[in-house]
Amino acid sequence: MSEPNLTTGTRQALWRRQNWAKYSAHLAVQRGLNNGELVRQACEVCGHPRTDAHHDDYDAPLRVRWLCRQHHARLHKGGEDLFTGLSSPR
Ligand SMILES: [Zn+2]
Ligand SMILES: [Zn+2]
Repeated sequence: MSEPNLTTGTRQALWRRQNWAKYSAHLAVQRGLNNGELVRQACEVCGHPRTDAHHDDYDAPLRVRWLCRQHHARLHKGGEDLFTGLSSPR
């Protein structure tokens, strides 16, 4: 074994980067809600008033989707297809 374990190192760095992005995105949402930059909205699928912010892109921490618990969970399980009909009008 002469090669350094690049795969593991890269993976770990990626994991850390992704989780940091996730974490800081959530902080940005909290801050946005506190200072009025961001307004909590009803679930974009069913209109449920109790929602969480979902990030499509953690590099854009204030660009979020508001989803109720149920639809948030479904999105993470089933991928984006739940929303393909919603994001672009047919
Ligand atoms: Zn919903
Ligand atoms: Zn989410």
